[in-house]
Amino acid sequence: MERITLHDKSFRIFIPHDKILKSIEELAAKMNRDFSQADVPLFLSVLNGSFMFTSDLMKHLEFQCELSFIKVSSYSGVESTGELKHILGLNTDVKGRTVVLVEDIVDTGATIVELYSMLKEAGAAKVVVCTLLLKPDAYKRDVPIDYVAMKIPNDFIVGYGLDYDEIGRQYKDIYVLDTASNQ
Ligand code: 5GP
Ligand code: MG
Repeated sequence: MERITLHDKSFRIFIPHDKILKSIEELAAKMNRDFSQADVPLFLSVLNGSFMFTSDLMKHLEFQCELSFIKVSSYSGVESTGELKHILGLNTDVKGRTVVLVEDIVDTGATIVELYSMLKEAGAAKVVVCTLLLKPDAYKRDVPIDYVAMKIPNDFIVGYGLDYDEIGRQYKDIYVLDTASNQ
């Protein structure tokens, strides 16, 4: 589909599915080179947005790893509220372990910075950040974003796990808010 409408807003196609998958395969190949069989890192997927990314990424990983989920929310409508709500907390012991945070998108970085400190406080030996998308013009924090599949401008996007007020997560492509038709 070239265009979709969610609630009151119109979106146009931005990143097609095949391009998303190619970027994930390249990212997985890099991880396969960087992690050794002995690491057994814990992949911590940040729900809800990263469910599709996590699934496609994990299929390409060739080293031993564990997977768990955490659920937080900072967005309301199309803007970050800057306040993070923990909806599903950490239920795995991270003491002394390498934890790979799996995010759909890093925007202001508020989410990732808070999760990073929480994991460090819980005793994680190393926290690695992996994201499908990064908005480099919005991210001004110090936590290094170790793995980025794709960089995008400061636009609001949906699809491939990402929502607009809870709808639109199911699309296999990524769509961008069409400013021209939302005047
Ligand atoms: P941050 O805390 O970095 O500002 O934002 C992170 C979270 O906000 C992401 O995990 C994602 O859920 C949401 N988010 C940020 N940018 C976008 C966007 O362009 N579209 C959607 N749908 N969600 C976004
Ligand atoms: Mg998210």
